[in-house]
Amino acid sequence: MDYDSLLDKAHKELPDESTGGERFEPPKLEAFAEGNKTIIKNFSQALQKIRRKPEEVLKFLTREFAVPATVEGDRLILHRKINSELLNKKFNEYVKNYVICSQCGKPDTHIEATGHRSRVLVCEACGARTSVK
Ligand SMILES: [Zn+2]
Repeated sequence: MDYDSLLDKAHKELPDESTGGERFEPPKLEAFAEGNKTIIKNFSQALQKIRRKPEEVLKFLTREFAVPATVEGDRLILHRKINSELLNKKFNEYVKNYVICSQCGKPDTHIEATGHRSRVLVCEACGARTSVK
């Protein structure tokens, strides 16, 4: 295959961004196994997109997978082998519950503590406040 047809092929495989642009797509975590660990190499980039602190997401993943985790630079290291499909499934759950506004579906939100152990997800787009765990 020559360069032009490769390029042509690449263009055809690009997702069509003109449709459904309103819906927020959670970033995909890129993970690979190294020994008995799972390394998420784009952890900090993914978190920038959802505007969450590493500690927040780390705490969630640690709890969901019952496995210790450490942040190392831009990467997150989970101390067990975890299937990347499952990892992304959990991460999408996090995004759905702790990032996306349930009222308007936008990701422009932040979490506010409202008291001892109670928190709300505040939407900056529509002003909705939803309590979260
Ligand atoms: Zn909203």
